[in-house]
Amino acid sequence: MIPLNENLSRMRRSGIRAYTELARAVPDCVMLTIGEPEFATPQPIRQAAWAALEAGQTHYAPNAGLLELRQAIARQEGRKTSEILVTVGASGALFTALLGVLNPGDQVIVPIPAFPLYESIITMAGAELVPLDTSGDGFQIREAALLPLVTEKTKAMVLNSPHNPTGVVYDRESLAAVKKALLGKPIFLVSDQVYQGLCLGEIPSLAKDPDLQEQLLLCQSFSKPYAMTGWRVGYLAGPEEVMGRLLLLSAAEIASVPTFLQAACVTALETDNALMAETYAQRREYVCRRLRAMGLDFPRPEGAFYVFVNIARFGLSSDEFCRRMIREAGVAAVPGSCFGTEGYLRLSYCCAQEALEKGLDRMEAFLKRL
Ligand code: PMP
Repeated sequence: MIPLNENLSRMRRSGIRAYTELARAVPDCVMLTIGEPEFATPQPIRQAAWAALEAGQTHYAPNAGLLELRQAIARQEGRKTSEILVTVGASGALFTALLGVLNPGDQVIVPIPAFPLYESIITMAGAELVPLDTSGDGFQIREAALLPLVTEKTKAMVLNSPHNPTGVVYDRESLAAVKKALLGKPIFLVSDQVYQGLCLGEIPSLAKDPDLQEQLLLCQSFSKPYAMTGWRVGYLAGPEEVMGRLLLLSAAEIASVPTFLQAACVTALETDNALMAETYAQRREYVCRRLRAMGLDFPRPEGAFYVFVNIARFGLSSDEFCRRMIREAGVAAVPGSCFGTEGYLRLSYCCAQEALEKGLDRMEAFLKRL
């Protein structure tokens, strides 16, 4: 093969997808792997896309996104329209944000475990991921662990709350530590809040902290709060001047997000998703109860739809544990190694309740046999 971009050769395949495929090869395997809501996109949103298509919204949208959508997002975020860029999911927002600010050799602090996409983008940028191990601190961020990681080379820190894979919501102490570490320095805070819209109440966040606005790049998504994963729409928000430059990168890469999908996203922002959020909250309680009854430890999830279960005492690597659980019990989870932390697995509970019950029954039986 003719050599490719060196950074691309260092990129790794997502373990989440790999385990999902492994499980698909086993008949009747219960998938507790992927963060794919079981709900269909609410009818009014689908209807709006259809209406936009019929109305001829089939041409290029402006590079930054449909004005009507950007205005609606700006209202929701309490920001200016000029600070909003519509992207291809939060993935596109993260890609534009990180690729747009990183130079080769720059360092990015990432609390570990972490959603693997961050590593892929940082690798592609030729930058260096500096891991902040949070496993000893209940998956929260503590000043003593974070401050020593900040160097002259630090260009960004990624913060994800509610967190994938742990479901943890960063507490005020975590946010204070991040603020102390970054405030006033030439370091961007890339805040990935894709699960925030599924929280029933307000959660602590630095997104609106007035002191950090010049440093903050907010990555958001329509995927999870409105069960719109396949639509691929999200947005990036940040300081006006920075956004003006990042727009060039996004425009060069995608020109714009499909116009009729953006039109429907205006309807999404008006959609009440409380029922979905409540359903996940109930399932969270159910999963936690079941796992506790199995004698398992895990940080208490307060958001997203994942629980990160400690399996260290079984003496198997997380990969081996998950492979065996697929083969021997017909239930699939994602090993902690896919997120950079051994001794854990991630269970996703955004699937249907029956699948969840069946999966946990099988897991319980598997643990007894181990
Ligand atoms: N960030 C996190 C933490 C995620 O879990 C995901 C999706 N699993 C994304 C970003 C990307 O979401 P999307 O591109 O679908 O908006």
